[in-house]
Amino acid sequence: KAKSEGRSTFHFFEPGMDAAIQKRRTIETGLRTALEDKSFRLAFQPLFGLRENRITGFEALLRWHHPERGEISPGEFIPAAEETGLIVPIGDWVLREACKVAAGWPGRQRVAVNLSPVQFKNPQLYETVQQALADSGLSPSRLELEITESLLLIDNDSNARTLHRLRALGVRVSMDDFGTGYSSLSYLRSFPFDRIKIDRSFMRDLESRPDSRAIIRAVIGLGRSLGMQVTAEGVETREQLDAMREDGMTEIQGFLISAAVPPEAIAGLLARDPLASAR
Ligand code: C2E
Ligand code: MG
Ligand code: MG
Ligand code: MG
Repeated sequence: KAKSEGRSTFHFFEPGMDAAIQKRRTIETGLRTALEDKSFRLAFQPLFGLRENRITGFEALLRWHHPERGEISPGEFIPAAEETGLIVPIGDWVLREACKVAAGWPGRQRVAVNLSPVQFKNPQLYETVQQALADSGLSPSRLELEITESLLLIDNDSNARTLHRLRALGVRVSMDDFGTGYSSLSYLRSFPFDRIKIDRSFMRDLESRPDSRAIIRAVIGLGRSLGMQVTAEGVETREQLDAMREDGMTEIQGFLISAAVPPEAIAGLLARDPLASAR
């Protein structure tokens, strides 16, 4: 009796759990199929150098159009890909594709590729990066790998070694979403980053919270004294751009310049002044 009651109690919660598990399974199966069918796409968002006053690079952002559910955001499917380990083959594809596309750009713009912690811990990463560069013919100095702070919490020594080996290849490494994770200052001391990307949340609060501006300024100063470039994420308004110029920011990224575009649209973006409408 007690057992069957237990079961029925469990059943009471099941519909909701079922829905969540079902959704996750649908995503999982979909990710496998997408990998086989090559139905992932890369979109590229410009990085705008404030000293150069032009587009100096692009960040590759993964796009997935699900046959039934339509566009699914990476915020939703990347965690699923990480849990299932599928992020490794998917991430390999992203690296190869990003290098291939960037090798065809008219200038020497760099391409930034996001790396998941799961990829970073994979012993094959170094070889994969090397292979992507060799196959595409992209100069290593044009490739930048973006990693998040959370990754560095785990297994510091081996992460540091991987970072050093990649940099020895000539590849650059940036710390993504700076300011959102745990104590990041010690990482800046221990790891040879080329760039700090300040998380979009600081830009969002720029007008309403003076402390956000103070923190951005402090990070710019930090970058300057440590010899690291600094990029501000999420610049959406002319006012934010002006503030960043005033503070001596190196580079901005955000909807004010452009959202991520398909590779075919890049030549057009490079041909015009992306700030013309914002002036
Ligand atoms: P992220 O690396 O910080 O990428 C920047 C995200 O901010 C992108 O979202 C971009 O579209 C968005 N963004 C850029 N400018 C603005 C702006 O002005 N305003 C607002 N509101 N948003 C802006 P997206 O493409 O949805 O990607 C979300 C996250 O998913 C990325 O954050 C990254 O962590 C992850 N991701 C995307 N592609 C890949 C990938 O190929 N591999 C891995 N491991 N992660 C990826
Ligand atoms: Mg990124
Ligand atoms: Mg970022
Ligand atoms: Mg971010």
